[in-house]
Amino acid sequence: MDEVKVSNTTELIKIEHELAERGIGSDIAQKLMDIANEARKYSYSPYSKYSVGAALLAYDGTIYTGVNVETAAMTGVCAERNALFKAVSEGNTKFLALAVAGGKHEFVAKSCTPCGVCRQVLSEFVSDDFIVIVNDDEGHINMLRFGDLFPYSFGPGNLK
Ligand SMILES: [Zn+2]
Repeated sequence: MDEVKVSNTTELIKIEHELAERGIGSDIAQKLMDIANEARKYSYSPYSKYSVGAALLAYDGTIYTGVNVETAAMTGVCAERNALFKAVSEGNTKFLALAVAGGKHEFVAKSCTPCGVCRQVLSEFVSDDFIVIVNDDEGHINMLRFGDLFPYSFGPGNLK
């Protein structure tokens, strides 16, 4: 699964409208979470056994998936940056939301939030209103504001 398009323009307008009100609809959030969870099957995580999938929704409706990729030398990349780099490398740099699903083996972990490195890289491209979707402790989707996840960040605005 490389790219999935949100089905039509009406749905995209609905997404933008909902985001304008500081949040995307739970149906879209659940769809993104489902795609992130589905992407986990491609995770390459033979060492940690902790597979992560991410689904990044761009403004144009394209959804980019990513998985964590590990190596024997303990280098690699997280699912979130993998999805982001895939998007940027294809010329897409404006994003609405990101869903992250992860856990040991087939289990889904609670609150698999982006690590510090991913938050820093995301901050290059997203605003404080960007939505990060994770599972909460009860397994329900939880929508977090990026500004709450990564306050007082150092970003492009600091170099202007
Ligand atoms: Zn990360």
